[in-house]
Order: sequence, then C-alpha cells, then structure tokens
Amino acid sequence: MPQVLTHQQLLKIAGEFGTPLYVYHAERITEQYHRLQEAFKETSTTFFYACKALTNVSVLKHIKSIGCNADCSSLNEVQLALKAGFRPEQILYTSNNVAFSEIENAASFGVHINIDSLSNLRKFGQKYGHSYPVGVRLRPNIMAGGNLKISTGHNKSKFGIPVEDTEKVVQLMKEKNLHIRTLHIHTGSEIKDVEVFARGIEVLFELIPHFPELEVIDLGGGFKVPYVPGEEGTDITLLGKKVKEEFGTIEKRYNRKLQVWFEPGKFLVSEAGYFIVQVNVLKQSGDTCFAGVNSGLNHLIRPMFYGSYHHIENISNVAAEPQRYNITGNICETDTFAEDRMVAEIREDDYLVFYNAGAYGFEMASNYNSRFKPAEVLVKNNIPTLVRRRDTLEDLLATQVVMTD
Ligand code: PLP
Repeated sequence: MPQVLTHQQLLKIAGEFGTPLYVYHAERITEQYHRLQEAFKETSTTFFYACKALTNVSVLKHIKSIGCNADCSSLNEVQLALKAGFRPEQILYTSNNVAFSEIENAASFGVHINIDSLSNLRKFGQKYGHSYPVGVRLRPNIMAGGNLKISTGHNKSKFGIPVEDTEKVVQLMKEKNLHIRTLHIHTGSEIKDVEVFARGIEVLFELIPHFPELEVIDLGGGFKVPYVPGEEGTDITLLGKKVKEEFGTIEKRYNRKLQVWFEPGKFLVSEAGYFIVQVNVLKQSGDTCFAGVNSGLNHLIRPMFYGSYHHIENISNVAAEPQRYNITGNICETDTFAEDRMVAEIREDDYLVFYNAGAYGFEMASNYNSRFKPAEVLVKNNIPTLVRRRDTLEDLLATQVVMTD
C-alpha cells in the first residue's frame, strides 16, 4: 500500500500551520523513487528529478538524499539544485528558447546541458567546440500527453529541434567539432501508453549511427500518475522491460552500449503533495451549491489552466453524506476547482484537501489579487516542518520601488 498522510494527520497539520497550506510527504517521494529503481533495475538507467514540478529546497535536499539527480529548466533552478547540495554532474539543464547567455552561465557551473535550437547549438559549438559534451533535444513528431498544453513532442510543438533537421545537427557537429554526447526527447506529460515511449526510442535509435560520440539517450519525463480514485498510471514495470528489450537490440545492432536517462517530475512528487484549504462561504444558487474557499487560481491553477482533476475530500466532516458542490476560489475571475463534485457535506470553516498537489501546484502559484502564496510543510519521519513560511505584506512590497510624490 502506498504511503499516505491520513485525514487526522492532515487536519492536525492544518490546525498547527494554518491554511491554505501545501503539505508534502517525504517517504512517499522515496517510495516512488524506489518504484522507478526497481522497474528499471536491469538497464543502466539514471533519473533526474524534473524540479520544475516542485523546487522547495528542503524537498530537493530530500530527493538528493535518496540518490536521485536533478533536471532543471532555468538557471535559477540550477542554482537552487546546487544550494540543495547536488553536485554539477548530478544536474541536467534542459533549455527552451533561452538566451545563449543563460546556457553560458549554466556551462560555467559545469552541469549537463541539453540544447533545443540550431541557433544556440551553433553558438555553443563556436564557443566550446569539442571541449564541453552536450545534449541535443529533438522533437520526435509524436502526439502524446494529457492535454495540448503539455504535449511537447508533436509536429507543431515549439520544443526541440525537429527530427527532420537531424542532418543540420550533424552538419553543425562536423563544422564546429561539437561533442554530442546525448540525444534527448520529452514527448509530453501524463503519457499512460508505454508504446509512446517505445516510439520515441525508435525515432532516436535510427539516428545513432550519425553520432559517434553518443553515450546517452535521454527520454525526458511524462509518466502518468493516477488522479481519479481507481485510475491507473503508466505501467513503469512494463516500460522497464520494454526499455531493456529495446536497448538490448542496440548492443546487437550497433555494437554500442548507451545509458538511459529519464526526467520524471510528476511521478516523484504529485501524489506526495496535499493542498489544504478552508471553506469561507456556502452559497446556494438555484440547483447549485457553491463552496467558496480561502484559495483560488493564484494557489492552484492546474484545473483552470488545463482542466486537471484533483480529487477533493472534506477532512473535517468525513462521515457526513456526500452532496453535490461547485468548489470555487476567491479570485476575481471564475476560478472553479471542481464542478458538480460529490463531497461529504460541507459546512463553512470545514477543511478540504486536494490530492495530487505536489507537482506544479505551489510551483505555479502567484500573488494575484495581492494575496499571499500558501505556506509549505514537509512531513518526514512523521514530523511536520515548515519549509516555506506564508508571505507577509512586506514580501509583497519587497521588490517595489515606491515613487516619492
Ligand atoms: N523534462 C522536460 C524537458 C520537461 O519539460 C518536463 C515537464 O514539463 C519534464 C521533464 C517533467 O515532466 P513530468 O512532470 O510529466 O514527468
């Protein structure tokens, strides 16, 4: 049975630290990492946690302590990973549409780098030549992922160098004496079908003979986790077998052994996170009962941004009969978390918990409407610790330069 925090534990933590509150469960992250290690134990696989999902440094430190590496999408994420104690060789930086200066800065830290445009690859070659091994992010032209916003590998996507331009990459490699060590794809997020990963592998395998110094095939992240009770995620055991099979064929076909890298974000932290809010106002309007909570799209934007589902429970009235609610926020756009959702009878001041809140929850939060971002708590060895305090008005003003009259 997966490690979970109980209603009583969550209620106690909410009472102690206040709401709205993000709560993360360290042991659940560890458990997910061990599941990955077990599923891929027969291939030479390295995991880089896609820390864009959740960058709280205490969480990063935990992830480092269990032996996982870090995948970063910005220079600031690289610096947070370094602050958490990851060594440069444990950090991967995969850029998208960045200024070349950001890539130069990443290189100054000595981290692994994946480049996703021909222009930046050319500049990289000009500056570093053969001296800095580099990865190339390709766009495999595969449509996959939970929704269009998180589908990144299709033939209209902004991500990566289109695979049909591989010839140009090879030309650049020769012209600039580039040391291309990695071929990378990230086809999308919430990919349930193992065959999608297999298709990605096949696309990359065709290219192997063009890259004599290739050592790594980086397949990105995107494993699906269950959201709705009873739903299944990606079958990682099956994927582990598939990867073993496919990579076994390379050894025979090309007489070369390659490492496999993955960059899971959601898989590691989504289910380890809980978001707790309180109900401010109940409002009956015709057939609809609105439960208006002390949060909104400023704290958890995923349902409004791309229709994501978060299971919601009333943890302060658990035994009550379920009733139908529209659960909404307090922001001045319509910020509906859940429509027509059956939840145990809700009263004003009740505590509601949103599940699967560890990935892209706090990380996408903002101060919209000049409201404070939630606090964050990490539970480790059954001890809840505040790992980010709630904002204050001083925080909101900290970066403003107020003009004098
Ligand atoms: N790697 C890259 C390059 C990504 O862009 C992302 C997500 O945006 C990930 C990994 C992590 O994806 P997921 O959280 O679905 O595992």
